Amino acid sequence: MSAAYYLQKANRSAILFEKSPRLGGVIETNRIEGCLVEGGPDSFLSAKPAALQLIKDLGLESEVIGSNDHLRVTYMVRHSKLVPMPDGLAMMIPTKIWPMVTTPLVGWGTKIRMALEYFRKPEVVGERSVAEMIRSHYGQETVDYLAEPLLAGVFGGDPEQLSANAVLQQFVELEMKYGSLTKGTLARRAAAPATTGTLFRTMKDGLGTLPTAIKNAIAGKVEIRHGTVERIEKSAHGDYLVNGQPVSHVIVCTPAWQAADILRSIAPKAAEGLGAIGYNSSITIGLIYDRATFPHPLNGFGFLVPAKERRRMAACTWVGTKFMHRVPDDKVLLRCFVGGTGGGLSDTQLVEEVRVELQGWMGINVAPVAQNVVRWNRAMAQYTVGHQARVAAIVDELKVLPGIHLAGNAYEGIGIPDCIRMGKTAAERCYAAPS
Ligand SMILES: Cc1cc2nc3c(=O)[nH]c(=O)nc-3n(C[C@H](O)[C@H](O)[C@H](O)COP(=O)(O)OP(=O)(O)OC[C@H]3O[C@@H](n4cnc5c(N)ncnc54)[C@H](O)[C@@H]3O)c2cc1C
Repeated sequence: MSAAYYLQKANRSAILFEKSPRLGGVIETNRIEGCLVEGGPDSFLSAKPAALQLIKDLGLESEVIGSNDHLRVTYMVRHSKLVPMPDGLAMMIPTKIWPMVTTPLVGWGTKIRMALEYFRKPEVVGERSVAEMIRSHYGQETVDYLAEPLLAGVFGGDPEQLSANAVLQQFVELEMKYGSLTKGTLARRAAAPATTGTLFRTMKDGLGTLPTAIKNAIAGKVEIRHGTVERIEKSAHGDYLVNGQPVSHVIVCTPAWQAADILRSIAPKAAEGLGAIGYNSSITIGLIYDRATFPHPLNGFGFLVPAKERRRMAACTWVGTKFMHRVPDDKVLLRCFVGGTGGGLSDTQLVEEVRVELQGWMGINVAPVAQNVVRWNRAMAQYTVGHQARVAAIVDELKVLPGIHLAGNAYEGIGIPDCIRMGKTAAERCYAAPS
């Protein structure tokens, strides 16, 4: 949709092919019992500018809201209890001494190791998994109780498989320069200008505002055709055929496994690489309760569940505390995340399991008044070891097909701002090319 928006902004004609009857991909905002329930993403990082730029281009700046950072506390489940994450963490990198000394989240062995890490010398190491990298700096407990749950929240992935170079690029650079990740993070922070505003932003009426606004902006300029693209072929005139429609450029924004099928007949080697990019599934479960009988103070943004402790849930957001304009005063909204496809359980069975876990960790002994289960199958690309080389090889293979461009969460960043940036860049490549 970003690609379509920037194409029409540059006065290029375009057709948007969309498999689903709904636009927006994994962005899906629902209204239930007066609550705004995000079925997919709930916010985006403000540090990456492409999302805020698109919002500005759409004239929606006044609708951007930040998270309620004065209330930010995130808990981690440890020994079946919610333990607040210590202050001063830059992702999983500790930068403050006292909160680490006093936290019950990790033991003394890990705390001592964290202190000694400060004295590591710079080194250049080959590509490793996230787990290998963090283990070598801070030990296994930091992998289990910080890196794994934090990254599962973003990638839904396994740190033993995820590539440090692809998902922790900044930390890999700090390691080369400073040796110690703690020292490097502190040095970077001291050198960087103070950032203003909140880390996470969203739209007052939900992220669904964005696809709706784009749909309105492109109306009459970009033709939207609902239906699955089966394959892209080369025409006798040197351009491409998308479901038989002749076009000079194609921006393929589907998940990589779909792109592999679509491109196989004209780019078999690139298709092989695209098919090798793994995907994870996830499920979001929105549970709405009456505030009057809800037994928990919701004093934070929610909690993460390390795989070591995990039964079914991977995380839970206390939506009304994290964001304004989501939950009326008489309701409570919990957004629970389950990794994978749910092991064959029905929606009702999943909700039952999640409720048992919520009772154990938060003491919730009342029933929700409404629920919303959304399943995302094979939606999250996995940047496993070798990812950057795989993507470079795919891009190389596609050089012989100059009108074919790729965008989406499989390549250079999983979050919304990166996907918007890639859509915009692909659009620019189309109109920069001679037509
Ligand atoms: C549950 C969940 C929570 C997330 N939370 C966040 C968050 O809070 N913040 C954040 O920044 N990111 C988050 N992400 C990640 C981010 O939302 C996604 O990576 C990003 O939105 C994906 O955008 P995309 O355009 O690459 O893919 P998609 O949104 O998957 O869009 C792909 C589109 O292609 C269509 N399509 C597929 N095949 C075909 C075909 N053959 N023909 C025609 N159309 C086709 C699909 O129907 C879909 O509309 C989350 C993701 C999930 C699943």
